[in-house]
Amino acid sequence: MTAHAQTLDKMLPVSDFTSMWSLIAKELQTALGASVYQSWIAPLSACEFQAGVFILSTPTRFMRDWIHSNYLDVITSTAQQLFPNIIKIDIIVSAFEPAPLKVALSNDQENNDDDAPVRSIEDISSKLDPRLTFDNFVVGKPNELAYAAALRVAEATKVAYNPLFLYGGVGLGKTHLMHAIGWHIKKMHPKKKVLYISAEKFMYQFIRALRFHDTVTFKEQFRGVDVLMIDDVQFISGKDSTQEEFFHTFNALVDKNHQVIISADKSPSDLEGMEERLKSRLGWGLVADIHPTSYELRLGILQAKAALMDVIISDKVLEFLAHKISSNVRELEGALTRVVAHGTLVGREITLELTQEILRDLIRANDRRVNMDDIQRKVAEHFNVRLSDLQSSKRTRAIARPRQIAMYLCKQLTTKSLPEIGRKFGGRDHTTVLHAVKKINELLESDPSITEDVELLRRALII
Ligand code: ADP
Ligand code: MG
Repeated sequence: MTAHAQTLDKMLPVSDFTSMWSLIAKELQTALGASVYQSWIAPLSACEFQAGVFILSTPTRFMRDWIHSNYLDVITSTAQQLFPNIIKIDIIVSAFEPAPLKVALSNDQENNDDDAPVRSIEDISSKLDPRLTFDNFVVGKPNELAYAAALRVAEATKVAYNPLFLYGGVGLGKTHLMHAIGWHIKKMHPKKKVLYISAEKFMYQFIRALRFHDTVTFKEQFRGVDVLMIDDVQFISGKDSTQEEFFHTFNALVDKNHQVIISADKSPSDLEGMEERLKSRLGWGLVADIHPTSYELRLGILQAKAALMDVIISDKVLEFLAHKISSNVRELEGALTRVVAHGTLVGREITLELTQEILRDLIRANDRRVNMDDIQRKVAEHFNVRLSDLQSSKRTRAIARPRQIAMYLCKQLTTKSLPEIGRKFGGRDHTTVLHAVKKINELLESDPSITEDVELLRRALII
């Protein structure tokens, strides 16, 4: 319910810059992911909004420079999307830079205390997001290996795989699984020191330590943990000194038999700009990949999220979203949130039409022209038949009907001729295609379930 309420807030008009910033920051969290958000966006605060210039402040010059060169574009475009009257974003340094290692860079404002002790693990570690638990993780074919491995590591009493290396494309659940491991271990062994940090932040901490000539403390902090999780390790590639330090930290922990968990967007051997010995060392434990989502997994995730949001959405709408938003889970969640917020706000039932209307721009953004491959793939997915079956000569009803629907859609949605369509379906004659088109046209008049299937597929393909 809270996620829902927050989204509603987002839609309300806001006038003061603090609320504006909280809305922008919320969008950025979705766009950049939890770890980047925590390292670089959360510590920013809004100072002023005047004459189109929105001023943010950071605690340190280093942070300002980093954000300037890496995130200013995305911050600006996100801000402008929400508030078109923002012309420019400026970032300033809020105060004098703190003395070395005295002030926390974590998100806790209360640590901004001159007398703060040398930072503890809790200060360095990014916060674990309470929503990212094993309970909230929907398991399907594409992620079952990674899930099982993560659970195994979280539950293990003895270190079994070291390191556990999780990899996969953006928005597929790597960070979610790491947080879930963190929560689980903290629950079972409250005394264990669990450190979760993005590779970017690791790098930042290290560079900072170098700058303040305090690498000794840095080393002690990292080597003193029981479980070290480094997220998005591809960010370390190419940064020689950080790589070196990471390598030593990593070795020290593995030698002591402390669990290390790493995530990246590629497998160890495919990481670019990474030293060979580090690559090979990263692959020594268990390497588990997360595959792109399947239709079933997307639908399962949507159902779970809808239940969490405490809203009732028809299966048709969920199926439509699962068909249409196939890039990654983060976008899928974003789409669902938007539809729910919008529907509630205008007090209308969330129908397929409304969904289509709300998401038009989102879908248009990564839309392509419909081609026969897309049609065949979607139809196969929808009816749960193999792609090869659509092209085969099998004539069982379970396959013949989807094949006819696919042919019909090819005729309707592309400019291909009947013979061209026939060739795409295992070299069939143009009269077969013609027959299919006629047959489906007939059924559209008489059979509501076919009408629904065709309509759903058509929408999924053409928005
Ligand atoms: P990655 O780190 O791989 O880029 P995240 O772990 O940040 O991806 O996942 C993006 C979003 O999708 C998060 O909000 C996460 O909770 C959600 N998510 C990803 N996979 C699943 C899943 N299998 N079940 C539930 N939510 C998921
Ligand atoms: Mg991530």
